[in-house]
Parts: sequence; C-alpha cells; structure tokens
Amino acid sequence: MNPAHPPHDPSRRRVLGGLGAAGLVGMLPAARAKDRRPLGVALVGLGYYSRDLLAPALQMTKHCRLAGIVTGTPAKAEEWQRRHRIPDRNVYDYAGFDRIADNPDIDVVYIVLPNHLHKPFTLRAAAAGKHVWCEKPMAMDAAEARAMIEACRRHGVQLTIGYRMQHEPNTQAVMALARSHPFGRLQRIRAEAGFRGFDGASGDNWRLDPVRGGGAMYDMGVYALNAARYTTGTEPVAVTATPHVERADIFRGVDESMRFRLEFPDGVVADCATSFGRNINLLHADCADGWYELSPFQAYEGVRGEASDGRRFDAVIGATPAQQARQMDADALAILQRTPPRVPGEEGLRDMVVLDAIFASARTGGARVEIAAA
Ligand code: NAD
Repeated sequence: MNPAHPPHDPSRRRVLGGLGAAGLVGMLPAARAKDRRPLGVALVGLGYYSRDLLAPALQMTKHCRLAGIVTGTPAKAEEWQRRHRIPDRNVYDYAGFDRIADNPDIDVVYIVLPNHLHKPFTLRAAAAGKHVWCEKPMAMDAAEARAMIEACRRHGVQLTIGYRMQHEPNTQAVMALARSHPFGRLQRIRAEAGFRGFDGASGDNWRLDPVRGGGAMYDMGVYALNAARYTTGTEPVAVTATPHVERADIFRGVDESMRFRLEFPDGVVADCATSFGRNINLLHADCADGWYELSPFQAYEGVRGEASDGRRFDAVIGATPAQQARQMDADALAILQRTPPRVPGEEGLRDMVVLDAIFASARTGGARVEIAAA
C-alpha cells in the first residue's frame, strides 16, 4: 500500500453526505493529519486540455495526484495507463462511470468534456459522492448551473470551476485593485479574448456545434466576461450583445465573434469582445485618476501588464503548466481543509446568468437586456 495514500475513511463520506457546501464550512473539525494525503483525481475526457495541460500539471501538484481516467476510447486508456501508471481498477468508460462511487482511490472527478456534458457528468459525479472540478464554461445556461450547484450541495461535495486565471498572481493583483481603488473611481473596462482558428474545420469539431456548446462566446468570451466582473468586483445589471460571422461556411449556428457591452452599477461600462477569427488578448481599466492593464491577460504563462503610475505586473516566469498546478493544489486544499474554494460553482453561475442575457440580446439583434441577480 502507498503510505501517502491510505484507504479512504468511509465514515467521512457518511458525515459529509447531506451537508451543503456552506454547511461543510465550520461545522466539521479541521482535517485530521491522516486526511492530508494527496487527493486522487480522475480526469473525465482525455482531449487536448487533459493531455497537454492538466496531466502534466498534476505531476507538479503537492495536494493531489492523477489517480484515474474516464474515457470512451480504449486505446487512449492503454496509453494513459502506461504513461501515468494508472491501475485497471481506476479506469472507466462513460457508461460505467457511476461505479466510481465504490472507488476509494478517487476523491475528485475533474470534468474536461465538451460543454454540453458538464452538467450530466457533474450530477453523476456528485451522486457518486465525489468532489467535482468542472471546466469552464460551467454549463450551457444558468438553469443547468443551478442544478449542478444543488446536486453538489445535496450530496455534500465541493463544486469548483476551472477558472485558472483567478489563481494567477498578476490577475490576483488586478482583482485586488477592485477593492483598493488606487487610481480613483473605475470608469470603463475593455476585455477582449480570442484567437484565429478553425480555418477549413468542419462541424465534427464540438467547438463549432451549437448542441455541444460551441462558439467563441462559450469558449473564449467567458474569459472576457469573468475578467470584467473581477475587475469591477461587482455584477453587471444589463447587457447589449452582437454576434458576427465572417466565415459562414465554417460557423453555422454558432458565433464566430461576439461584442458585448456590460453595464455595471454606478455607470461603469465594460466593452468586451471575443472571437475565433482574430487574436485579441487585452484587459484594460480606465479610472478617474489613471489606468492599468494586462496583455496578455489570459494565457497559460506570461500574463503581464502595467499601470499609469509606472507600476509593472511582470510576467511570472515558471514552467508551464504551473497555473493549472496552482489551481488544483488550491482546490485540493479547500477540500482537505473544508474551506470554500476560490472559484465555487456560484462564481460559474454568475457568469452563466450573464451569458444567458448576452445570448438573449444577440438573438434580438442587440437589444438591451437587463440581468437578474444570480
Ligand atoms: P477536446 O475536444 O480536445 O477534448 C474533449 C474530450 O471529450 C475528447 O477526449 C473527446 O473524445 C471527449 N468527448 C466525449 N464525448 C464527446 C462528444 N460528444 N463530442 C466531442 N468530444 C467528446 O476539448 P478540450 O480542448 O480538451 O476542452 C474540454 C473542456 O475543457 C471544455 O469545456 C473547454 O472549454 C475546457 N478547456 C479549458 C481550458 C482552460 O484553460 N481552462 C483550456 C482548454 C479547454
């Protein structure tokens, strides 16, 4: 037996069961020393992000480790098992996934599937008694996001969204400015995230399929949206949005680009853009007495920027994928210490509420849509 990974304490799950996420905090004693083992993580979906970023990052983490995989492709399972020394008992296909409930090696299920599968797999993972980490965007809409939060609350497991930027140091410095206001009152934000891609691609790609959550807004737009919210530190009250398709042969029923203007309280406005047609990567804030910006503001490494008073946000130099390792270690500690995660499901829900309004405005040719509280 691996001493760093003793058998699960089944009583723990019984205690946790039935407590909501909020109920977990403060009601339970601090994690005992024997609970401080690296948590076992099962990656669900072994595509690009799992393969190139999360699996390497899990080799850099202290508080969690790659323990299992869930995949629909037997050849991939074999390759991953060899490369990461994953035993047969920790390998699942999608149909047999629910048996993970009986596997004490797995504490966390990390959902890295196309967006339409985030909700069903979150519900199944929660019902299996596993903590859930779910990739962005959290879901297809706010109703799905609420169902995911409710399922995790009911089963007493944590739900955390993979907004890695919120774990990045320069991003955290900008988030802190929303509270300290060193440049006076915030007036206007620009947030733009996108890349040129998909030339010659077909609808087989889920990022081009409306049913599976394709389109630039779901994929890259959430970075701009989330940044507008963490830069103001408040919630938008209304939005106007206009989609645009340049390459109509490729983008059918999904947005290639989207411009959206978020209205925040006190007259603060965020002009946002996202695109699969051009490379854009800027977060800029204008305040009464100065400005600050990050560019790139969303990247696996090299996030950097400056401000009108000469301060610099120097790029944090470190091996990729350090960002994902920071994220997963912080999220693992939240589970081990029974504290709320930095990016809980509720944070994903707030974006989904705004996304619903963005799509509603886009459908009506850019009408102003008021945003209800999450
Ligand atoms: P991908 O297409 O490379 O991988 C998706 C995986 O899901 C594949 O292994 C595929 O076989 C599997 N799959 C299961 N059912 C499927 C279906 N019905 N259609 C298509 N594929 C199916 O995608 P990805 O780039 O790894 O993205 C996966 C998730 O991770 C998405 O939610 C995406 O938004 C998110 N993501 C996040 C980041 C980040 O920086 N946080 C970066 C990339 C992707």
